[in-house]
Amino acid sequence: MRLANYDGRAVCVTDDGFFDLADVSDGAFSSSLDDVLGDLKTLTNWYASTQPSATHHVDPLEFARESALGPVVSAPSQIFAVGLNYRHHAAEMGLALPTQPLVFTKFASSLCGPNADVPIPSDTTDFEAELVAVVGKRARYVDVENALDVVAGYCVGQDYSERVVQMMGSPAQFSMGKSYRNFTPTGPWLTTSDEIASPNELAITCHINGEEFQNSTTADMVFSVAEIVSHLSQIVELRVGDIIFTGSPDGVGQGRTPPVFLQKGDVVVTSIERLGTITNHIVTE
Ligand code: ZN
Repeated sequence: MRLANYDGRAVCVTDDGFFDLADVSDGAFSSSLDDVLGDLKTLTNWYASTQPSATHHVDPLEFARESALGPVVSAPSQIFAVGLNYRHHAAEMGLALPTQPLVFTKFASSLCGPNADVPIPSDTTDFEAELVAVVGKRARYVDVENALDVVAGYCVGQDYSERVVQMMGSPAQFSMGKSYRNFTPTGPWLTTSDEIASPNELAITCHINGEEFQNSTTADMVFSVAEIVSHLSQIVELRVGDIIFTGSPDGVGQGRTPPVFLQKGDVVVTSIERLGTITNHIVTE
């Protein structure tokens, strides 16, 4: 299933449009997408047996560009992000491959919908296309073999990064530079994990003003999605709705000679195979 947060309500996206989940199920499911994430099994069973059709007819590709789409999770208890998690990206940054996942956070106030405008605070703001996993079960001490059972689904994310603030201080603390307003778009919708058996074989791209900057595959990850989930769960309790940014492939602005950073007027289009596309216009504050 594809589940979106449209104007604050949980909707299900079909091949020819969408329907409001609470309305069409006569209230069997919550109108809040955050609330339905914890029991997707019941929801997918209902969907398979009822086979509801769209009540609003629109091309899904067009629907994905709607500005009324909100973040896939509006109020996660935790947002994790993993740095240097693609082999070719670590190489372009001139850094050694990490031996453990390099985890930081993006603060929740930076969350926004998939097509939000993104204000840049400086001329050193960068882009990072990322696969995002959303947690669907409370979990601790999950082994790698069972880790994907904890994932409710996947979506596209951008880990916008103000590089000067990110690298400020010694040792640098990444989180603030990655948490300016609207630096954390997710979407366009959640594709439930029953449809994505192998999250580590998806094409991932980022285009700016139509020019290709990132073109890779999630197979280049240093730590797979399952390894990241397992690692996190050895330390923290994972909770329903938690968001995990799994790292960015090579091609980011900082990795170029000379570096290329975002400018007002840029249009950033981020896509992942089978998960969709998000589009952000870069503006000034
Ligand atoms: Zn990142």
